[in-house]
Amino acid sequence: MVGAGIAGIFMLHRLRQLGIPATVLEKGAGVGGTWFWNRYPGAQCDVPSMQYSYSFDEGLQQEWEWSQHHARQPEIETYLNQVVDRFQLRDGIRLNTTVERMTWQGEEGHWLVETDDGAQFRAGQCVMATGGYHTWVVPDIRGLGRFGGELLYTNHWPLEPVLFGGKRIGIIGTGSSGVQTATALAKEPIESLHVFQRSPSYVVPSRDRTLDAEYVRDYKATYAERRARARRTGYGTDVVPIPVGEGTTAEVSDEEFLRRAAIAWDLGGGAMGTVFPDFLVDAAANRRVTEFLRGKIREIVRDPVVAERLSARDHFLGAKRIVIVDGYFEIYNQPNVHLVDVRESPIKEITETAVRTSDTEYPLDMLIMATGFDSATGAMLAIDVVGEGGRTLRESWAGGHQTFLGIGVPGFPNMYMINAAGSPGIRSHMMVQAEHHVEWISDLILHQREHDIASVQPSEAAATQWMEHLLEVAATTLLTVDDTQYLGSNVPGKPRLVTSYLGGVGRYRDICDRVAASGYPGWILQRRDGSAVAPSREWEGPVAAVPERVANVI
Ligand code: NAP
Repeated sequence: MVGAGIAGIFMLHRLRQLGIPATVLEKGAGVGGTWFWNRYPGAQCDVPSMQYSYSFDEGLQQEWEWSQHHARQPEIETYLNQVVDRFQLRDGIRLNTTVERMTWQGEEGHWLVETDDGAQFRAGQCVMATGGYHTWVVPDIRGLGRFGGELLYTNHWPLEPVLFGGKRIGIIGTGSSGVQTATALAKEPIESLHVFQRSPSYVVPSRDRTLDAEYVRDYKATYAERRARARRTGYGTDVVPIPVGEGTTAEVSDEEFLRRAAIAWDLGGGAMGTVFPDFLVDAAANRRVTEFLRGKIREIVRDPVVAERLSARDHFLGAKRIVIVDGYFEIYNQPNVHLVDVRESPIKEITETAVRTSDTEYPLDMLIMATGFDSATGAMLAIDVVGEGGRTLRESWAGGHQTFLGIGVPGFPNMYMINAAGSPGIRSHMMVQAEHHVEWISDLILHQREHDIASVQPSEAAATQWMEHLLEVAATTLLTVDDTQYLGSNVPGKPRLVTSYLGGVGRYRDICDRVAASGYPGWILQRRDGSAVAPSREWEGPVAAVPERVANVI
């Protein structure tokens, strides 16, 4: 198994429960995946903590106490570590181990896995829990390597404490990581903070708070039904319906629209999507909501020029991840916080001491890069995966990722991916989706063992059909219009292809369950002698299998 983040930890536990021996190879010096690497100041989860936790063990979910409505990175890292200890998983995880190459050895029917320290492992199956956000994007800015001050990256923040007091700090990037970092650093006794913004993000308050004991008690008493409900939704979160009345977002009166918008703004977090469920499929609805959000910025930020620069207009709301954090726009009212619009004044170079734009030089003691990831496919392609006939995954995906259900790739037997491209993955509540994948994949591995099946891989036809379906569903949303990381547009040369299945976590689960219940149609199951194990029912395609159409893609 590769990766000891949320998915890898549970996968190890689940396999051990089933009596299947497994080892996890993890690049980091600690467990936690995303929550190990992204330890930048202000790092916080945008899914409420009562939901951002494992559901697989009743004792665990009842006993663990979250302190905040939205958990901070240190608390999540602690949580994941105590899960590892609680279920005695640490001895199954080999840290500081980067998988460099995986080669399918058809004759022997196993993968040869080679790591950066020269070790080799043989594995009947490889489960890739490599994460949607691991491979870092380092922009090609002239002189970046020359910077003589402290150069830090939000996506692999140092383990040692970082001191900010009295420093002149710059941040490049204003996605969730940059916005959260800037908001946190503005509270530190720094001399100055310059935020270098290329594209403004839509930012809504999280309305964070200490968790109230009564709320927690009630939540825990109803955990089972809440978890079950979450698994049926589009995104995978337990959406508490907010009754706003009849009428679509675009058609209701101004007065009614503002009444709804105020509810969403005051509730914060994901409420914008609950109150306006059509904003990702209706451009007029989307424009109406974004105009409201720009109005909020004008109310908060005193300088109208800065307010305008902070106002996103270049993409649909939700096309990039909506940033959820309290107090971001407010920092621009501080005299020591400055917004630099690098669309107006592009960054020309980074010198030993400063960021130099087309019109100004900004001397800095510390430069923080919050420039994102090669998401969804990056971590898989970072490994030299060599499948049947010597064909590599990089070759197979040269024109874009090609998977069946986002779990398997034709030509790569016994390799199963969690939260990868082609599944709801990075456009879902990844913990819920990880649990589903872990259960589905471990059931398949068990099926292999019980039926003496030596190799499993999806058929080309099933993968082709799945990709067609993925594109068809995506086309019913506004998510394919703008160039975003969800289409790979932030990585030079990456094929423009929607990464996630947008039909909803609930519907996706139904399709996968149907496949499993039918003896895995769409997959080629072979015994060691080469004979095929036929499914009980032929693969009829995702639409025929589960006709209900879900358009909740928030
Ligand atoms: P991101 O959303 O991809 O943002 C990267 C930022 O860097 C963008 O503002 C981008 O501008 C900017 N950038 C890239 N190259 C640049 C250059 N050469 N010059 C200037 N600016 C440049 O990355 P992220 O913030 O790390 O977030 C990654 C994903 O993780 C997102 O989906 C995010 O929501 C998620 N995340 C979630 C949480 C949470 O749950 N709370 C926290 C952190 C991250 P452009 O937009 O113009 O390309």
